[in-house]
Amino acid sequence: MSFNLNNVLRENIKNLVPYSSARDEFKGEASVYLDANENSYGSPLAESYNRYPDPLQLTLKQKISSIKGVPPRNIFLGNGSDEAIDILFRAFCRPGVDNVITVPPTYGMYEVSANINDVAIRKVHLTPDYQLNMEAIAEAIDQNTKMIFICSPNNPTGNSIDREDVETILANFNGIVVIDEAYINYSRQKTFIQELTEYSNLVVLQTLSKAWGLAGLRIGMAFASEEIIEVFNKVKAPYNVNEASQKLALEALNNIEQVNSWIKETVAEREKLVAELAKLPVVQKIYPSDANFILVKTTNARAIYNHLVKQGIIVRDRSKVELCEGSLRITVGTPEENKKLVEALENFS
Ligand code: PMP
Repeated sequence: MSFNLNNVLRENIKNLVPYSSARDEFKGEASVYLDANENSYGSPLAESYNRYPDPLQLTLKQKISSIKGVPPRNIFLGNGSDEAIDILFRAFCRPGVDNVITVPPTYGMYEVSANINDVAIRKVHLTPDYQLNMEAIAEAIDQNTKMIFICSPNNPTGNSIDREDVETILANFNGIVVIDEAYINYSRQKTFIQELTEYSNLVVLQTLSKAWGLAGLRIGMAFASEEIIEVFNKVKAPYNVNEASQKLALEALNNIEQVNSWIKETVAEREKLVAELAKLPVVQKIYPSDANFILVKTTNARAIYNHLVKQGIIVRDRSKVELCEGSLRITVGTPEENKKLVEALENFS
């Protein structure tokens, strides 16, 4: 394969001189910091936040590195993985010239980020069993196709994408292949983060927002070659992950047993919920899920959605999405929440 990062990187990013912060210019320990125009007196809180955070979040990356088995130099941290998605567009796609491929139905931010950055989208719909249409993808690629976004397990369908197909694309596409693994902790499939040395065009996205239970902290992760991570670091805002989030995430990452037990419980609850939903007359089809949600085809999605709202239960109506007609996307809740959901659905008439 002839992937060359310089061929896909925008010229202005290649030539960019990144912002150099006070924390970039002096990295040692000192007793008097008068270099960043912070408030030297403190902050009006019990804990001090008057100093800017580490721009490269090294301590947090070292912790993530020890959990994931990927060196810190191959990790980018952002304000949610949504930030990583946006940076990819800004770094690699020339507005009004380049295009990217998405494979809907899939996560909506790829398209929104493309639109914000004035980058054309080529949509190659998944097959009816929610797998990649390999021939149509090959046809959609031209010399200005910079990225392909593959979400696995996929949102909103819940299934994993066949690994061999993803490997075929990684081996043959001369642009960036983004594999969004936001839901990987719930999946039977293996992550792609161990393949970084094999594929220099691979970017794997993960997040602390799902299984780790930290959506409010806004911490997303991108795993990629050192060269691609350098590009992320050049383009990102200098202090993109705030100090409170860095501290709390570090603390949370010590509670891996808690997270693993929630993952097990969520997967068990998912299977129980599938069995319960399958008995209901309003349910026509339940799609296989590798995630913490299930896509459920119903007899009358909008009416069922409204009925649930009246009971104080909110699911996601995906019935207007192509290939998801009639479907609701339901997050797996606690046992009590799932029970309430099933009871509410039993009462729908
Ligand atoms: N990718 C997928 C597939 C998602 O479903 C989501 C959140 N709904 C995200 C990324 C965004 O995650 P974050 O909170 O890290 O921005």
